[in-house]
Amino acid sequence: MKYDHILVRYGEMTLKTKNRKMFVDALRKTMIRSLDGFGVKVKANRDRAYIELYDADPYEVMDSLKHITGILSVSPVVKIDKTDEAMKGTALNFVKDFKDNSTFKIEVKRADKEYPLKTFDIQNMLGGHVLEHTDNIAVDVKNPDYQIMVEVRKDAIYMYHEVIRCVGGLPAGTGGRALLLLSGGIDSPVAGFEIMKKGVEIEAIHFHSPPYTSPQATDKVKQLVDIMSERTGVDIKLHIVPFTELQTTLYDKIPDNMSMTSTRRIMLMVAERLARKIDAEAIVNGENLGQVASQTLTSMHAINAVTSYPVLRPLLTLEKNEIVTMAKEYNTYETSIMPFEDCCTIFKPKAPKTKPSLEKVLKFETKVDFEPMIEKALENIEMYETNAKEDTNAFDSLL
Ligand code: ATP
Ligand code: MG
Repeated sequence: MKYDHILVRYGEMTLKTKNRKMFVDALRKTMIRSLDGFGVKVKANRDRAYIELYDADPYEVMDSLKHITGILSVSPVVKIDKTDEAMKGTALNFVKDFKDNSTFKIEVKRADKEYPLKTFDIQNMLGGHVLEHTDNIAVDVKNPDYQIMVEVRKDAIYMYHEVIRCVGGLPAGTGGRALLLLSGGIDSPVAGFEIMKKGVEIEAIHFHSPPYTSPQATDKVKQLVDIMSERTGVDIKLHIVPFTELQTTLYDKIPDNMSMTSTRRIMLMVAERLARKIDAEAIVNGENLGQVASQTLTSMHAINAVTSYPVLRPLLTLEKNEIVTMAKEYNTYETSIMPFEDCCTIFKPKAPKTKPSLEKVLKFETKVDFEPMIEKALENIEMYETNAKEDTNAFDSLL
């Protein structure tokens, strides 16, 4: 089947009435960036978008659209004249690709209420035409193997038979900005994807402790943001914080069973200051209730006390195996399980407290002046920036 367009259906943004334009504009921008190089034309309307394919491969184009947040589903479509002959010919062309001895159904959406043929007439006409010109296919209206969709709209008729589910959510850049605490583990990249789904733009912060952590461990985190960026079509900045001085001081000065709590507290303090600087409105992490000692409610309470920022935990209540499935689906799993030590793993205490007392933690922390070390760490942040799609003039030339 030769398709000429991709039909793009929007996700939750169809619930927006007043500021829909802002959402559509944002989605159009991401689609144009992601499809740069295909030589296609993007036309995003209020309710749906069409990608005119010219010579591009529809399945390759749809692969690039699948993970763009804000898109609910896509279909490769044929745009035809509003005539009986065009509809009949296209229906037969679809059927040629169907398996032998299969069943089908014609489904009509008549958005153009002035079209002379009614829904039922079109179904009958096309069903009859297909049966007349084929031998080994039957109609089944209840449970068909294939559905041929006919959308009669003002400008043309669109026909298709495949609907491919996409990621849904809201378009990138419509939900504000958050700072993601990104380790090299399985959880935090998944947390990043989940928050991006809601249209939130993210920057990431990673703490490393050279020479205790290897350059490969930091490279792995860079690879993770590359995957996240490539998939969503949105660039991500990664702030790499030198944490060695703070980490070794914590190790020396805070009793072993409380050092994890303090480490997380200091990380969150640094993250909050960076969040303010980059105008982020929330901090995101990959914490999961009860997963480890630092993620019990009591621990979260003691750690969270250092910040007034909302700390979002998209994975809070999931099962670990659900998170693993998501990481595989997001394509970060293989990178996450590469065996390079994270700073928290190396300095991990033998028996961290599952119920750390905030008073006790504070008692030990106040004996150390962390402030100059925090400032120094912030001053020495190294930046890594992805380049999802080189900026081009595609935006202008395609509109
Ligand atoms: P895992 O899959 O091993 O649980 P994780 O990334 O979730 O990996 P945890 O030890 O559970 O690691 O840490 C909880 C959260 O704290 C992480 O999800 C991440 O948001 C944050 N975090 C941990 N270590 C770092 C680090 N070195 N830099 C930035 N954030 C970190
Ligand atoms: Mg975890």
